[in-house]
Amino acid sequence: MIQINENYSKLASSYLFSTIAQKVSEYTAKNPNAAIIRLGIGDVTLPLSPACLEAFHAGVSELGDEKTFRGYGPEQGYDFLRQDIARNDFLSRGAGIEASDIFVSDGAKCDTGNFQELFARDIKIAVPDPVYPVYVDTNVMAGRTGPFTQDRYEGLIYLDSTEENGFVPRPPKEKADLIYLCFPNNPTGAVATRKQLAEWVDYARSSKALILFDAAYEAFIRDPEIPRSIYEIPGSKEVAVEFRSFSKTAGFTGVRCAFLVIPKECTAFDKAGKAVPLRDLWNRRHTTKFNGVSYPVQKAAAAIYTPEGKKQTREIIDYYLGNAKIIREKLTSLGFTCTGGDNSPYIWVKTGKDSWEFFDMLLSKAQIVTTPGSGFGRCGAGYIRISAFNNREKVTEAMERIAKIM
Ligand SMILES: *Cc1c(COP(=O)(O)O)cnc(C)c1O
Repeated sequence: MIQINENYSKLASSYLFSTIAQKVSEYTAKNPNAAIIRLGIGDVTLPLSPACLEAFHAGVSELGDEKTFRGYGPEQGYDFLRQDIARNDFLSRGAGIEASDIFVSDGAKCDTGNFQELFARDIKIAVPDPVYPVYVDTNVMAGRTGPFTQDRYEGLIYLDSTEENGFVPRPPKEKADLIYLCFPNNPTGAVATRKQLAEWVDYARSSKALILFDAAYEAFIRDPEIPRSIYEIPGSKEVAVEFRSFSKTAGFTGVRCAFLVIPKECTAFDKAGKAVPLRDLWNRRHTTKFNGVSYPVQKAAAAIYTPEGKKQTREIIDYYLGNAKIIREKLTSLGFTCTGGDNSPYIWVKTGKDSWEFFDMLLSKAQIVTTPGSGFGRCGAGYIRISAFNNREKVTEAMERIAKIM
């Protein structure tokens, strides 16, 4: 008898985005002329920059010529891209990351989801609340949790991100082995200071734990005091891996390209307590299960590091940040407490109501779609997430509508 992995039956159904879609379609069925504005999406809307597009086309053309054709590339990514990443994203910021520490992949979702495969089943996992669901669900699938009861999985350590701690949780009293952190955060938009990250690095070092640092929104950081990489924190290389993606940075959500950084110093331990380099372990896993990102996509990704590419990428992010500023300022002026939106594309709004009740109110009275915070975890109750990934006119119009109904 072919038997299923019973851990899949523990997974709580994620009703969040399907419920939103259902509520919107019910509303539009009743109000066919309603001009809905979607501020719920976690996807980019602007097209690829000209620099990326040109490199993408050139890469495709090379594949059509016998002299420049390429088949399988290196599983870890082409050297030109790994060198560009190491130089521009890390060395230039004083973080000594080498090209050989970088693994190019087709997404940070897959990387953050797959990385837990390297570890024992009985390790203790800590996740933020509210959370990017991938961190939790992949550990549920792997059998590292008990059942889902009272909106949480038994056996996980939840790191409450609340108004009291400024949505940046501190290390827990319990001993966690694997810690997921995400800054700038999705969904709260919060960023962590050097001091706050240093506290996590100290914790990981003293308890021989590992930090999985998701920096998918790094490009949105504009405050020079905020670290853009965990490797700006001294002592972090032994205890942290970092996930980055071209998705939000350069509009690659449909193109697919990301990378994972595992410094050669970073280790985990075998049963006997002997240190094992994680880079070697991941290299074994990656080369066994993955055959590389396509050549034109890696050419397009590398184009963000050219002078024109840097300028164009920055302009795109500035545009979204301009939207975020409009949203944040308007809601603040209406008396709402907001987090995020200055170094992040997300604004986390304290509604003073139930998340879904506030969502329904914005939909029915202003025809605006947001994301209820309670869908991201218990600590999201009473909040909504507003996304700045839309065009300026729609964002401005949406804020006018909200002002009118408040
Ligand atoms: C969008 C996002 C990513 C990027 O995922 P890709 O698979 O690279 O598109 C990673 N982490 C978080 C928290 C995100 O919101």
